[in-house]
This record gives sequence, C-alpha cells and structure tokens, in this order.
Amino acid sequence: MKYEICAKVKNLVPYQPALGEYPIRLDANEGFFDLQSPLYWEEEALPLRDQALSKIRDGLSRVPLNRYPDPTCDALREAFSKRYGTKPSFVTAGNGSDELISLLCGSLMEKGARLVTVSPDFSMYRFYGDIYELENIVWQKPSDLCLDPQALGDFVAEKKGDMLLFSNPCNPTSLVLEKEKVEALVASLPQPLVVVDEAYMEFSSPQSVLDLVEKYDNLVVLKTCSKALGLAGIRLGFAVANETLTRALWAVKSPYNVNSLTQSVGLAVLESPALCRYCTEKIRQSCKDLEQELQSLFAGKKNIRQIFPSQTNFVFLQGPAAQSIFKGLMDRGIMVRNMEGAIRITAGSPEENRLLLKALTEIVR
Ligand SMILES: *Cc1c(COP(=O)(O)O)cnc(C)c1O
Repeated sequence: MKYEICAKVKNLVPYQPALGEYPIRLDANEGFFDLQSPLYWEEEALPLRDQALSKIRDGLSRVPLNRYPDPTCDALREAFSKRYGTKPSFVTAGNGSDELISLLCGSLMEKGARLVTVSPDFSMYRFYGDIYELENIVWQKPSDLCLDPQALGDFVAEKKGDMLLFSNPCNPTSLVLEKEKVEALVASLPQPLVVVDEAYMEFSSPQSVLDLVEKYDNLVVLKTCSKALGLAGIRLGFAVANETLTRALWAVKSPYNVNSLTQSVGLAVLESPALCRYCTEKIRQSCKDLEQELQSLFAGKKNIRQIFPSQTNFVFLQGPAAQSIFKGLMDRGIMVRNMEGAIRITAGSPEENRLLLKALTEIVR
C-alpha cells in the first residue's frame, strides 16, 4: 500500500491568478497605486503620503523580528475599532479576510453543515465549503442579479441553512443591498450564522451593517485592507461580531495568524484616517471615471447589454460579446476577469484606464 492523497483534495489545483505576462492587470480588484511609489499622487497629497510612509517605516524598523507577533493584535484592533466605530472586543484580525472565511467555514461549522451562498458571488466561499465538507447550497440570483432579501431568506429557511455567506457590495456584480434590507434578512434568520462580507463597503459605506453586530447574535461582518486601502500585499482582514462569536474565532484561529510586519503596517495606516480617506477616494474616482467612459463606449451597442452601476472598485459588464472582448483584451496585454457571459474590470490608473478604453474601442469596431 502506498500513500495516497485523500479523495477530496486529490483533484484540486492550486489557485492560480491569471497566467502569463500582462502589462496591465485589471483582474484582481487591487488598488492601482502603491504607497511606496509617488506615482499618481497629486502634488498637494504628497505630504500626506510622506508622513504615512515615514510612520510605516519607523514602525517596521522597531518590529522585533525574533519575537512572535501579538496573537490578539491589540493595537491593531484598537485602531480598527476607532476607525470603524466598533469595539475592540468585537474584532478578530486575520491573514486577509480569506483566512477568516476559512475559519468560519472550517471551524465554526460542523462537517456536513449547510452553507448557503448566492450566485454569482465571490467564488472562494464555495471553495471553502467544499474543502471543509460542508453541504454547498446555492441560491441563484434572478436575471437582474439583484439580491432579493425576502426570497433569499425564505430559501435559507426552507433549506435549513446553518450559515449564509454573501458579499455586500457584491463581487462580481458591484451592486449594493441597502442596510435595511440586510438587517431584515438577518432578523428573519435567527438560527443560521449570517456572514456579510463587506470587502467593498468603503466605496458605499452608509449601507454597512457593522453597527448591528451587537444587536444580532448571529451576525458576522468581514472587512479587508486589500480593496479600499489598496493593501492586498500585506494580507490583513477583520471579522466583526459579538463577543461570544469573537471568542469562538479566537479559540480556533492559529495563535500567530497575523505576522508582526503586517500588524505594524496595518496599524500605521489605520491610524491615519486622512490617508485612508484619500486612498479610497482615489480608487472610487478612478472607478467612476471608468464606468462613465464604458457607458459611453457601449451606449446603444447590443453586444454589451448592461454595465452595472458600480458601488465598488470594479465595473461589471454583461452581454454576448463578453468572451470575445476578454480575448481581445488579453491579446493586447490587458487582463480582466472573465466570467460566464460577463467581464469584471478593476479600475486602474488613469493611464491604464486610457489604454483599456483604447483597446476596447479597437475591439468593438
Ligand atoms: C477580495 C475579496 C476578499 C479577499 O480579501 P483578502 O482580505 O485579500 O483575503 C474577500 N471577499 C471578497 C468579496 C473579495 O472580493
């Protein structure tokens, strides 16, 4: 007998971001500018950047590399709570929100528990459901791709879901569900755990349900520094929930899940509200510009039926030409996200957006 990898893992392939060299990457919803480069910073914002950078570098230079990191990320949770108006005792920091999704699925659910997700939505949810041997149950959104809270709530109740997990605003549709509707959904489902992934909520903030975690004992809200702050490289996310849930998350997480360098950079950034606002606003503006240009490029063209009004840092386009546009862009060195009958384009720098639009103009001609 020889060793064999277990059946559920054997045929899995490692996650592979788009292969090959593409000078323009608009496929992963990253921020388009790097704090460490002065590119894309307006003259008047440079002092803000210099201040933030020296704070970051000063922090990093004092990280003791021989010591384990703070397992509970106290300073970081404090700064996060101040920024988001919550309590540190409600917060768990993670190695990206990805780790927290993994923990919620793998450690807070029993094997065989029913995980309800919606489609289309962030693909990682179902991946973790599979890995942890949950029963993946999918609610298909209607053709307008809007999330109907009543219909979804009925579905979760009927299927006896143990956990409902969805993104709001939604990746990939870029649409947001209003706070009252999310609250009504949570209130109608007292038994299952309801996880609202607000990875993009900073672009649409009044709809956040973060302030409701104390009111509902089954609500978890996820946040990340990867999108609105453009810090995907440091891998830092947060789960916000009441103290009982938070204690459970702390009990199951690996003790040193957020490394000291990440804690240090995250702290410096979260303690600079002006910097956070500036980064988010820059990305939001780029997305608004991109959306508008795409609207005028595709106006009256049937091959792209719809461009969704974006509440995120990307634009979602739907129509029969999606696949050929994806290929045409790839041929021109521009990578966007290809989906069934749709493409998702991350807002890039002004130059990247310009080259994208130039390529699209050629393709649709
Ligand atoms: C990008 C994204 C994440 C991942 O965030 P990390 O903190 O980088 O792991 C989580 N949820 C959604 C919906 C995303 O789009």
